[in-house]
Amino acid sequence: MPTDVIAIHTENKVRSLVARQDFKRGDIIYQIPAEKVSDKPNRFTVQMDRNLHTEVGKLSALNHSCDPNVILDMEKMVVVACHDIKAGDELSFFYPSTEWEMAAPFICLCGSPSCIHVVAGARFLPLSTLEHHYLNRHIREMMIDLLNNTQRHLP
Ligand SMILES: [Zn+2]
Repeated sequence: MPTDVIAIHTENKVRSLVARQDFKRGDIIYQIPAEKVSDKPNRFTVQMDRNLHTEVGKLSALNHSCDPNVILDMEKMVVVACHDIKAGDELSFFYPSTEWEMAAPFICLCGSPSCIHVVAGARFLPLSTLEHHYLNRHIREMMIDLLNNTQRHLP
């Protein structure tokens, strides 16, 4: 797979990842590299499994959106278009689809009607929000664990 189908764009020190060609919804855009795997997240890592976080090369420039145009499938380790994408479009994904509890939470200003505002990881979002998004298996499993624990603490 060619590596130049996406490019890092820097403006006012803010990095973003931009498509260099058109993609159709469902296209595999990029193979996710697992460069440095750790049991702790940092602001450049993507969560692969319950206790596994990996640095992902140029994909660390992927910004969050509450209305994203790509998904990160951390089982198949691929970036997939979830909308049609034009050359020059910024690529973005929904961070809580991979991240349970983020090392560097932030306020989202994406302007989408479905904006979640505080981007801190899936554990801080209600199911009613998460159910509208693609979620990786480890996130679904950790959500089920959290719900089971919550039930045990009910009177
Ligand atoms: Zn948002």
